[in-house]
Amino acid sequence: MTMINIDRRKLDPFDRYTMHKLVVQVECKRNCMKTILINLSAIAKDLYRPPIYLAQFICYKLSAPVKTSKEQDGYFVNGAHACEKLQNFIYDFIDRYVICSKCDNPETKLSVNKDQKGDVAVHQSCNACGHSRTMDRKADRLTQYIAKHLLNAKAKGEVSSGTKKKNRSKSKKHINPVNATESTGEANGTSTSTDSGDDSSSSIDDDWSDDSDLDKQLAERCDQYGRLVGKKKTDQKLNDIETVKDLLAEAERLEIMEQAPFIVGQCVFTENILKDIDDYKLLFTKLCTKNAKGQKYLLHAIEALIGEHEEIRKKIFNKKTMSKILLKFYDEDIIEEDTFYTWHEKASKRFTDKNTAKEIREMANDFIKWLRTAEESSDEEDDDDKLPEPQIDFTDTVNKSPVKDYGEIIDAENI
Ligand SMILES: [Zn+2]
Repeated sequence: MTMINIDRRKLDPFDRYTMHKLVVQVECKRNCMKTILINLSAIAKDLYRPPIYLAQFICYKLSAPVKTSKEQDGYFVNGAHACEKLQNFIYDFIDRYVICSKCDNPETKLSVNKDQKGDVAVHQSCNACGHSRTMDRKADRLTQYIAKHLLNAKAKGEVSSGTKKKNRSKSKKHINPVNATESTGEANGTSTSTDSGDDSSSSIDDDWSDDSDLDKQLAERCDQYGRLVGKKKTDQKLNDIETVKDLLAEAERLEIMEQAPFIVGQCVFTENILKDIDDYKLLFTKLCTKNAKGQKYLLHAIEALIGEHEEIRKKIFNKKTMSKILLKFYDEDIIEEDTFYTWHEKASKRFTDKNTAKEIREMANDFIKWLRTAEESSDEEDDDDKLPEPQIDFTDTVNKSPVKDYGEIIDAENI
């Protein structure tokens, strides 16, 4: 067990503030790589922060879910990640959420309060120098998360028995970008409930009353969303403007905007995928607008389906159909040019086996070539390319991509 200084700028080997050095282990099971963060809990303890904060932070940085694993008593993330990179994320976390900005001491604590206007603020106060600062909740996803987490804890502490009881029935099958299978059509219908039958949550803004959903791991939130989409599909409501609006808002709320197109794709695509795209055009367009990562995930959904469903593979795993599908996404303004390029650049085995991923990209070669030339020669037609703005008020939900807050999101598959 190696201990290192909490403050990466301090080189003194006898500094009193130390923490465990991160230990990771990369595992490969059934063609699936994962990186286990073996001692994340111990590090969190050294920093006097809940391990979930660190896990969430890494999750935002990697743009990939960090999951808990019971057997290892720890956390893991899909893909192979260098320990040094993850250690640097921990240092980044410390700089932002642990070390006092005035005296550099790491003995700080975080608290949350609400002013009379109902604005929620997270404060960091230093035990050493007494300095207190307010953290900018709006500029920072983890601060938002911390605010919700602390409010939730506060509410639970105040009314011990009055915490919300949610029906968290789990279906056996999962729909999520990590573990993609088909829809169960089963939905618990409670995912959007904002009922607050206790005193503690009535003192909390409606905005915050659902925060327990955000404590769930990403994969679970994706499952929850998948169940909702499955239910709407069974009810034949996926084309309703109201439903589209709700699904967009729900993806926002669950902070899964990137994954949402993948989840919907998994849920609705059949071997008649061109028709499916037509049928659910509005939903796809809304979910993918200004959401490059989401667009890429939609392409990954196709890869995953080809990998998993024999009938779909038979029907669409050929150059002609693949080109048609890609062109359709392009023509309908669901996926933008640049996204096709980044997707095409690198075959990943995260969604299907490597060979299939490669073959799909080879099948796309002509389309990509065409796209590059079309791009050069169609500048004057640009105005026609844009879909008219829909007459629905989506307020500001469309523009916020959940990952924009950190400048240096690292795509898990590019490592
Ligand atoms: Zn201080």
